[in-house]
Amino acid sequence: MSITMRAARLHQMGSPFQIDDIEVPEPGSRDVQVRVEACGVVPNLRNVVTSYTSKHPTLPARRLPAAYGLDATGVITKIGQAVQGLSLGDRVYVNPGLSCGGCEACRRGQTNQCPDFTFQGYFGFGPGSQRLFDAYPTAGFCEYLVAPASNIVRLPPSISFEQGARFGYLGTAYAALRRAGLAPGETVLIDGMTGTLGLGAALLALAMGASRVFGTGRNEALLEEVRAFAPSRVQPIRLGQRPVNETVMEATAGLGVHAYLGALGPGAPVESTLQGLLSLRRGGCAVGMGALAATLPIDPLVMMRRQLSYTGSLWFSTSEGQDMAAMAAAGTLDLSVFQHERFPLVDINLAIEATQARHGGLTNIVVTP
Ligand SMILES: [Zn+2]
Repeated sequence: MSITMRAARLHQMGSPFQIDDIEVPEPGSRDVQVRVEACGVVPNLRNVVTSYTSKHPTLPARRLPAAYGLDATGVITKIGQAVQGLSLGDRVYVNPGLSCGGCEACRRGQTNQCPDFTFQGYFGFGPGSQRLFDAYPTAGFCEYLVAPASNIVRLPPSISFEQGARFGYLGTAYAALRRAGLAPGETVLIDGMTGTLGLGAALLALAMGASRVFGTGRNEALLEEVRAFAPSRVQPIRLGQRPVNETVMEATAGLGVHAYLGALGPGAPVESTLQGLLSLRRGGCAVGMGALAATLPIDPLVMMRRQLSYTGSLWFSTSEGQDMAAMAAAGTLDLSVFQHERFPLVDINLAIEATQARHGGLTNIVVTP
């Protein structure tokens, strides 16, 4: 007789999640089984389970019913036969980024460049994504999940399960800062600093030794809260006054910042990114890591003369997740700022609604199965 567990699953796009009894998953030879202690409820989940694939026709539809839950933390309860280096009882974050393992990119170790890159418990990008969902059908809104051992980030005792459930957004920001080549002592402008993604970028930029962190936002009170993280290094810029690049240039003696991070969502005006590019110093790098969907009018001559670059960054590697765990353990990455709102698994639908009334990126909504 098989043992069952509770799982919140989506049976139909746009309908509420249902609590189902499904089989507890067994790990394959290179997998681990994790008892989920917390899973982040990302603000975009509400869009993804209602209309995402109809709004984004290039993304493949996912077969339903399906388990969701993107940013899970928990305890290792079973270990596959071929896995070494992990132990029963390890406290972990599960990086949900799945890749096929056999394509050119995967065989080169560039798993985030896999054309079938897929977020376990969320959505995929390629025609092979459904196969990866089929191989790993459980996720963070289940009592147990199974994931590849290579996706496991071991958490130090100082990181709570709730804090670890923020690693998805934090890691996205960390990978983007690395892509921008941010070095200690350099300066960065974060467009959308008070949101879930931008706040992580501010915390990581501080942890990486940025000397100045400029950040835009509309809510003055929230901006002040972020400034209080490091009053001598964080400089909030309230949007809707004058062009952001004017403020940045004035504050940097006309030099500009080394890096610009775009953390804004769909619907944001392209002007914000253009002002970001104008805020860069010569040789600077702009990274789009949010979900801005617009066509940018970029002048290649200006880009050439000022030797600027614009690039995109998607998600992060397990290795980068382990970096963040080490930074948090060392005390350089401060995860104490988050205000956790916990929901039991049965209240998954309330948790998703709660994402619409957050205190900016400071609110951390988690399901605790
Ligand atoms: Zn691949």
